[in-house]
Amino acid sequence: MPLHVKTPLLRSTALSHHHGAPVWLKLESAQPSGSFKLRGMARACETAIAGGAARIITSSGGNAGLAVAWACRQLGVPAIVVVPRRTAPRMRALIAAEEAEVRVHGEVWDDAHAHALELAPALDGAVVHPFDDPEVWAGHASLVTEVAAELPEPPEAFVVAVGGGGLLCGVMAGLHAVAWSHVPVLAVETTGAASYAAALSAGTAVTLPAIDSLALTLGAKRVCDRSVQWASEHPVTPWQCTDAQAVAACSAFLDDHRILVEPACGAGLAAIYADRGPLAGRSVVVVVCGGASVTRAQLADWEAQVRSPRETSSSVGKCTVAGAPLTVRSS
Ligand SMILES: *Cc1c(COP(=O)(O)O)cnc(C)c1O
Repeated sequence: MPLHVKTPLLRSTALSHHHGAPVWLKLESAQPSGSFKLRGMARACETAIAGGAARIITSSGGNAGLAVAWACRQLGVPAIVVVPRRTAPRMRALIAAEEAEVRVHGEVWDDAHAHALELAPALDGAVVHPFDDPEVWAGHASLVTEVAAELPEPPEAFVVAVGGGGLLCGVMAGLHAVAWSHVPVLAVETTGAASYAAALSAGTAVTLPAIDSLALTLGAKRVCDRSVQWASEHPVTPWQCTDAQAVAACSAFLDDHRILVEPACGAGLAAIYADRGPLAGRSVVVVVCGGASVTRAQLADWEAQVRSPRETSSSVGKCTVAGAPLTVRSS
């Protein structure tokens, strides 16, 4: 039995007005772990346990680690989540509250992941990768199946945020499974974490020298190879917003829908809130990917950070969302 819940699909009045066409929200923020990650990570955990693993080890200081912790508590199997030092105390506490063991190793995710791989053999554990695993993609794909069961017709586009590309691979697989293989995907990143856009330009996954974005959840320096291959099998357009746009979209979404999400999720919403956005006039499904690493105080802090002048020079498009919870278009 799946450990994730079937999430609501809402037609958003506020965002549809902004956008000038129907906007459907797939509310993955309603998953018990706070993000879509539960779909894929829980499936990967169950498969590993069925294959004989005595415990699950993962290497994410974010929503994937929390999803593994949540799933393993339900399954009654011990979990170790290796997090890098920069993972915030609040996230560590959330993971620990789900009864997983939190181990801190290294500065960044790559260090934590290497440590998880080292630990596994001696502990009889299976390492579950946060985004580069077919089991994870198959789990994420279930969100598209749910959308297709509810919408009488396919939307004209899907909006998906891209970190390491696991969600993108899942959505692509799901679209093909429901015979919506013609529905284009807008692959959204922040400008400081645009590893997918870089990969599409290069024609192969490339490693960014650094990540410079508040959307930490999108901060994979290198996307998985499968996400790049998908671009030759499915219509996909990369799109980027600034951190300021992502954060402003989080604030506007909180006002419009009373749901608090991370900037990673705000990036996808920014494609709708942005003035003359990339999909204007087309009906869309936005994957509201969610994120547990956000509080009102944290959002206020991000808002203060993006007010610094550093942001303005790199602005892509104009963002009109701040302080405008609902502006009805006249045209
Ligand atoms: C993990 C995550 C993403 C990015 O997913 P990938 O599979 O790494 O591309 C986006 N938003 C949220 C909230 C996430 O937790």
